[in-house]
Amino acid sequence: MIEIAELHKSYNTGKAAFYALDNLSLSIGPGEIFGFIGPNGAGKSTTMKILSCLIRPDSGSARVAGFDVMNDGDSIRRIIGYMPDFLGVYEDLTVAEYLHFFAAAFEIPRARRSALVDQVLELTDLTAKKPALVDSLSRGMQQRLGVARVLIHEPKVLLLDEPASGLDPRARIEMRSLLQELRKMGKTLMVSSHILTELAEMCTSIGIIERGKLLYAGSIDDALSRVRLQSGQGLRVSVVLEPHGCSSSHALEILRADARVTKAELTLAPAPGHGGELLVELAPGTGTDPASPHVVVELLLAAGARLRSVHPELVDLEDAFLRLTTGAVQ
Ligand code: ADP
Ligand code: MG
Repeated sequence: MIEIAELHKSYNTGKAAFYALDNLSLSIGPGEIFGFIGPNGAGKSTTMKILSCLIRPDSGSARVAGFDVMNDGDSIRRIIGYMPDFLGVYEDLTVAEYLHFFAAAFEIPRARRSALVDQVLELTDLTAKKPALVDSLSRGMQQRLGVARVLIHEPKVLLLDEPASGLDPRARIEMRSLLQELRKMGKTLMVSSHILTELAEMCTSIGIIERGKLLYAGSIDDALSRVRLQSGQGLRVSVVLEPHGCSSSHALEILRADARVTKAELTLAPAPGHGGELLVELAPGTGTDPASPHVVVELLLAAGARLRSVHPELVDLEDAFLRLTTGAVQ
């Protein structure tokens, strides 16, 4: 859905030659949520502005759904929704007026506008705020309104520049579930962030960019297992058992007998209603067989355990990000 090849972009600042994008190539398949992650100044916004035909690259190519940003701007603008990192100020506009304004700008026939506005408000959970002034909304709601606005012409590709930035944890969770909802509708999403943990866990793939260069592209799981392998860090998995499967002590015995398990302990004793909570540590594994929570699931199921939940610990994400962006991982 998005194909970028050998993109170069420099801004004419009068200073020595400096590339905001330096030979950037990446591709995003249909239906993905691609997390575009990198520190401030990495080139994320520049890439998104090129994809939405707001600025032109110096060289290289960028295509959206097969359309070329250099030649097919009108076609691209109809199928993408671009939400910039800064939404701007709206004086004395209500939420409904704001969306009607953008519906008109996209030349949506007047008769269809009200239904579409209601639909995007429903989707972004802002129906109750329809008559409210845009300025009176919380930051989380304003960000959701920003998403509502870029949905109004029913685009199939969304480019969202730091949609979760500055949100409190609750608003961030709401934003995440909105993005997942959009993916279920079949849209392709490219979402940027300067904080890996903000969005990465829900992305189908991520790209890490720094100083205009792509350092990593692939799944978050692959990124983490690479970091783990290179740093010799294991994987910690927390498991909650159901009360009616095998006992927690039998489960621990089975786990400890496996060579891949470096540690298994009871973190919460069984009680009425649950079978206990275990913490399992796995060795980092090897390149072809990196540590995976599946190992724990397979061992426990074979032992007759019934599992209520299995959570790999993701505490090391920020560390992983630092290692990836400092080039410590290839
Ligand atoms: P990000 O969105 O990842 O923070 P940007 O794409 O905004 O990064 O910026 C990439 C680099 O290009 C930065 O060094 C930034 O200072 C520079 N840059 C961005 N926009 C301009 C501009 N309009 N004029 C000059 N330099 C710019
Ligand atoms: Mg930016």
